Amino acid sequence: MKRQRAVLVLASCALLSAVSAARSSEPGRDPSLPVDQEYGAKIREYTTEPFFLSPLVDYLPASRTVPTPKAVLGDVAGAPGKLPYAADVYRYMRMLAAASPRVKVYSIGTTEEGREMIAVAVASETLLAKLEENRSRLARLADPRLIGMDDAEAERLVAAAYPIYYVTGTIHSPETGAPTALMELAYRLAVDESPYVREIRDRVLTLITPVVEVDGRDRQVDVYNWHLAHPKENWPPLVYWGKYVAHDNNRDAMGLTLKLSRNVLDTYLSWKAQLLHDLHESVPYLYDNTVGDGPYNAWLDPILTNEWQMIGWNNVQEMTRLGMPGVFTHGDFDTWSPGYLMFMAASHNGISRLYETFGNAGADTVERTLQPDEYSRTWYRQNPPLPKVRWSQRNNNNYEQTGLLTSLHYFAENAPTFLRNFYLKSKRSIEKPKAEGPAAYVFPADDPRPGAQAELLRVLQRQGVELSRARAPFTVAVPVRKKAKDREKDAKEGDAKDKPKKPALETRPMPAGSYVVRMDQPYSRIADMLLDYQYWSPNDPQKTPYDDTGWTFGELFGVQVLRVADPRVLDAAMERVSGEVSAPGGLSGSGPVFVVNHNADETLVTLRFRLKAASFEAAEEAFEAGGRRFVRGSFIVKGASADELRRAAADLGLQVLALPSAPSVKTHPVRAPRIALVHTWLSTQDEGWWRMAFDNLKVPYDYISTQDVAAASDLRARYDAVVFPPASRGPQAIVAGMPMWGNPLPWKTTPLTPNIGKNDSTEDMRPGLGHAGIQHLQDFVAAGGLLIGVMDTADLAVTYGITPGVTIARPEKLKVTGSVLRAKIVDGAGPIAYGYGETLSAYCFDGPIFNLTSMAGGRGGRRRRPEDKERPTGRGTADDPDRPQGRPYVEAPEEPHAEAWEAPPPTDEQKRNGIFVIPPERRPRVVLRWADADDLLVSGLLDAGSEIAQHPAVVDVPAGKGHVVLFSNNPIWRGETHGTSFLVFNALLNFDNLDAGRKTSPN
Ligand SMILES: [Zn+2]
Repeated sequence: MKRQRAVLVLASCALLSAVSAARSSEPGRDPSLPVDQEYGAKIREYTTEPFFLSPLVDYLPASRTVPTPKAVLGDVAGAPGKLPYAADVYRYMRMLAAASPRVKVYSIGTTEEGREMIAVAVASETLLAKLEENRSRLARLADPRLIGMDDAEAERLVAAAYPIYYVTGTIHSPETGAPTALMELAYRLAVDESPYVREIRDRVLTLITPVVEVDGRDRQVDVYNWHLAHPKENWPPLVYWGKYVAHDNNRDAMGLTLKLSRNVLDTYLSWKAQLLHDLHESVPYLYDNTVGDGPYNAWLDPILTNEWQMIGWNNVQEMTRLGMPGVFTHGDFDTWSPGYLMFMAASHNGISRLYETFGNAGADTVERTLQPDEYSRTWYRQNPPLPKVRWSQRNNNNYEQTGLLTSLHYFAENAPTFLRNFYLKSKRSIEKPKAEGPAAYVFPADDPRPGAQAELLRVLQRQGVELSRARAPFTVAVPVRKKAKDREKDAKEGDAKDKPKKPALETRPMPAGSYVVRMDQPYSRIADMLLDYQYWSPNDPQKTPYDDTGWTFGELFGVQVLRVADPRVLDAAMERVSGEVSAPGGLSGSGPVFVVNHNADETLVTLRFRLKAASFEAAEEAFEAGGRRFVRGSFIVKGASADELRRAAADLGLQVLALPSAPSVKTHPVRAPRIALVHTWLSTQDEGWWRMAFDNLKVPYDYISTQDVAAASDLRARYDAVVFPPASRGPQAIVAGMPMWGNPLPWKTTPLTPNIGKNDSTEDMRPGLGHAGIQHLQDFVAAGGLLIGVMDTADLAVTYGITPGVTIARPEKLKVTGSVLRAKIVDGAGPIAYGYGETLSAYCFDGPIFNLTSMAGGRGGRRRRPEDKERPTGRGTADDPDRPQGRPYVEAPEEPHAEAWEAPPPTDEQKRNGIFVIPPERRPRVVLRWADADDLLVSGLLDAGSEIAQHPAVVDVPAGKGHVVLFSNNPIWRGETHGTSFLVFNALLNFDNLDAGRKTSPN
């Protein structure tokens, strides 16, 4: 009680100081100070309207010693035709650091392609001199345990510390303005002696990463330079940004798979920054999406969401005062997913901000015509952008700098408030077990998938989350686990009785060695966000979620995670984990035969390719050996040395048992297939996640394009498996490619474009897969190859007739916006299901909805379920049959029954001249189906789920001598789906034995 009062007092002090902070000075130059006349004239020349300037950026302060951006650009920041490479931006920042004692440059890591990332610190000499001392103060505010949660001590630290405001630029490569804006901003902050800028410099340290996606920036500059050299032609679209992903680099703040995410988070955390402000360019003229729209992420401290309002609306007010049109903060961006780069701050007790400014994807000055919804006046956008305007990169730089300078000034004016809030949010994160809960998340030591468990724990470690490990067995009280049947029953009863029952608790023993994520730690919130369940109501006023609505990591990783509310769990004997978590691996027993249980842990596929020369067999049934049980699909390895296996087991976290002789069980070979991974020239966004997963697991593949497939009539001679990850463009576009009118669009390395054409290259991006490509895929499968299609590439295989017996129904009302859905194994004897239990959770985005038929050439359409069938008008009650009058009643023959995931058996009529009847052994085999409607949703948004419920999720279609495996879920997505990826690897490793365990119906 006492402590609570102290918090209240602090909070009200904060409010007072925010309100009473004197408006120290007005924005604008000090007329007594010299300006760079020439630079200022160019700024005004390149700005297309006077109201796109502000008094903060309509001049450049002069310096005799510090170079302006012109030293590197040859012109002013934002000048037409000038787009610097990252190296040029860095060169300028380092010139600045060499010339000014107010600037320091830090290297913060490298990208996947080895390019450097930097952070530039700008502050007064006094602040920079106190850098380490300040860091130690901020560290204590960031972790109030270090000061015994003492509010009075925190207040002393607040008074002595200064905050860190971290700005990041151009994570999205076609959004090009930030680097030059940030070069000029750094100069202004270092040089300008106007009272307004001095107040910033003296009270806040501005930290700048001018280029976040460095690999993509250099490619974007290449493409822009190509465009300058070919002014009359269309230019190649930026199909690759980073090595792996494009736009999704700003969805990686959960999984932290990309180096840019790790480098920015490490910088943010090690500087103990209070704010992370990420710059984008896709909305006119400045949309500060900090306030955005609901639903807000449900795990945030309300102190933060209030800070959003303060900062966002102040920003709009200040820029409106300066006469700049089109500045607003509310809008259609919901703040639900924590996947955005800026959200690293929101999930770590700081403040997240994001600007959308307006950009031309390059440095051309061009006429821009807006859409009505962009220029209309709304309640939150009283001064909207103009419908049509000439827009320049300089305009963009004016907006970005003016927004940042006013924000920095507001932050400087209210530094104690934001530092105090930083402390309070950190403290309240530590108090989570006693406040909203939970007390902890527990990862049992006996999880059957230690590899996936370790993977998830490493993600948490990268997030800065502290892990503990139980020294002794302990118990936890958790809600009773429900079987699927009970869940269904409850859901049905729930319709009748409106009051939800309080879940009963059960005590579960946890073995020693179990991992515990204690919630009494500063970064408890990010652990809670990742491990808890999400629910997005279909009735939410927000009808267009901005991104995925569900992500529950325990489910997507296929790992047991217990949410424990009872704070007594914190009393269990445990110790802090130091060092990176890894799954324990090793070899036991002796003999020339080695067995490895199949638990669908991803490193099993690494093992197969690592011991390429060894002989691997898959057991087609479960067996016992050495007193242990091995499930169906387990590996039996011969022809490798114990040493090799011991090393591999240790490296990969696998348990290997050596035996004197092979167990007697039916087996088939598990080969290391020759794999091609196919991409389009339209988009490499989604396949990039697949490429990354294959690279991380050391699964070798040839990376080929749809154009290569179109040209290769001998695919089967070269490959055993062709993997075609989602292209997110649809079948027709994949076949058509880009229109062939206009000029060729080369994507290749040249002296003018040294950074493109590395992942893959082509003389002309326009041609697609074409009908020749379809034919080659069909021939490949007919000759015994395996083709894997996912979502729209599954649609491609179905649409172009490669998969007889599969049709796709178009969704009517179904809404699955990046949610986690439950799926059930239908045929566990098939190799694709090896290592899995009865159910698993899978990532789904609107299907496709597969239907199976026993007839080739069947058309798509919704299968009517028995409950959808209504009796026709006639005599009797709704349950009675109608009876024609004047003749005895004849009972209609019963219709053959088939579940929604099955193909209805062919009717007598269809079989009469059965040209199209697919022979039973050639019919599609369902591996996995979506769960029943009541049991389908695991996490996120699901509306009209009955449209996809029970339908096949993964189908294995025999075709010719080969197979096509179709996915309705995306099994490899954003480094988050480690629980479903082995469905793909199982298919690959068993590509020539997919019919194993198959039982065919005689009909
Ligand atoms: Zn963007």
